[in-house]
Amino acid sequence: MSSEDPSDEAGEADRADEGNGVDDPIGNGGEADEGADIPRRADQIACTERVLGTTPEAAIIANLGVASYALAGIEDRPRNFYCWGAMGLATSIGLGVALAIDDPVTVLEGDGSMCMSLGALSTVAACDPPNLAIVVWENGVYGTTGGQPVATVDIAGAARACGLAATTAETGAEFETGYAEAVAHEGAALVVCRVPPIDPDARPPLDSAHVARRFRDALTDGTEGAEGTVRGEWRDGGDQ
Ligand SMILES: [Mg+2]
Repeated sequence: MSSEDPSDEAGEADRADEGNGVDDPIGNGGEADEGADIPRRADQIACTERVLGTTPEAAIIANLGVASYALAGIEDRPRNFYCWGAMGLATSIGLGVALAIDDPVTVLEGDGSMCMSLGALSTVAACDPPNLAIVVWENGVYGTTGGQPVATVDIAGAARACGLAATTAETGAEFETGYAEAVAHEGAALVVCRVPPIDPDARPPLDSAHVARRFRDALTDGTEGAEGTVRGEWRDGGDQ
């Protein structure tokens, strides 16, 4: 992962804004030229790399589809949990994991998925685990099912109305700052990151049982340095 190389920091910062889709008329965190009508967008791949570089030890819950493809394409690590077949549940799963472990937990949501479960934000605010950061990739479409438009919602505003700390990032630099602040926040926090639709080539393992078992083992057996971080006992279906 290139973001672990401090010598490449400047290059990473530049890459994080490549998603503007134009020849960089907007500087990294700068303002558009007067009269220009070019939406500012960050690069989802570069920002996902930022997440891994900022919180390499985090358990990451990725929404099905593009969020999972982007994450797996950078690093298919045991602490990744891909929400195959569970659209709308990434934030709820992330909340449960955050309440169970002490390590950082990051949710990589889609805007369509988040809109399926906006009510979950009120539960997140009520529980307010300090180790939970929620990233919402706002590309304006259901990217995995053909690009149908998502109904416009002010997701950061809805999160704030629920009592959560929330910001919106439109460039890689803004995302880097917003994500770092969300991780450092004393309670749960959310960052909306505006990105263009993408279609990464990577596909993570489709075997949901394998993904779930690998994730659980990474958090309970110390295979990723996580020994002793789980609060209470994990229960599988046989113990219910
Ligand atoms: Mg979307």
